Amino acid sequence: MTDRGDHRVDRALLLTFDDRHVREWAAAAPLFRRYGARVTFFICEPDRLDRDDVRLLHRLADDGHTIGCHGLRHERAPEFIAAHGAGAYLAREVVPALESLRRLGFPSRSFGYPCSARDTSTDRLLLTLFERLRGGVSADRRADPSLAAELHVPAGDIAARRVLLGCSVDSGRGAVAYGDDLTGVETALRRTADDGGVTTLYAHGIADAQEANHVTPARLEKLLALADGMSLPCVGFDELP
Ligand SMILES: [Zn+2]
Repeated sequence: MTDRGDHRVDRALLLTFDDRHVREWAAAAPLFRRYGARVTFFICEPDRLDRDDVRLLHRLADDGHTIGCHGLRHERAPEFIAAHGAGAYLAREVVPALESLRRLGFPSRSFGYPCSARDTSTDRLLLTLFERLRGGVSADRRADPSLAAELHVPAGDIAARRVLLGCSVDSGRGAVAYGDDLTGVETALRRTADDGGVTTLYAHGIADAQEANHVTPARLEKLLALADGMSLPCVGFDELP
């Protein structure tokens, strides 16, 4: 089990969850606690959280998890900007989401890109509002060991690396299963545990079956156990230097 300490993060798994599956995430809180894991929840449509969602999200934040922003209406940044301009993107999609989260008691310092859609100009724009951004690598490479080179950020680069690319560990969506081979992800975790640095992963809901993208509790526990067995702490974005 990894303790929550004040020591500098020099190696970590950054496990992140997107969208608005608050009840499922809250149900997994004991699992996270068992492994001493803190994760990041990137929330979209914060204005549509009901009272119970907000209460549960506060409990997750009290457990040390990071609450980040995932946009007001889950718009893809490059496409929205191409259609409406950068000013409109911030004014209609990002700032209202940030303000809504702040009003609910969640001052968010990081942003997870909806659909991992980003480019260097959206990065530059969003880094005026956020300390860190999470993008993604292609999920169909997660069985490929060479993915580790792309996912793993060396320890010396953590402080300066403001855009972290994650890989999906979702199990499936609706009736579609994404396959069980996570060799690339596991290789990245091993490298992170051995050499230091961080590896970022993402999922959505946490359920055995779900219409939306989801990771099963069994796979989630397997990943947490794998990291724990390597003495690799699982921390939230807010804990990064
Ligand atoms: Zn999303």
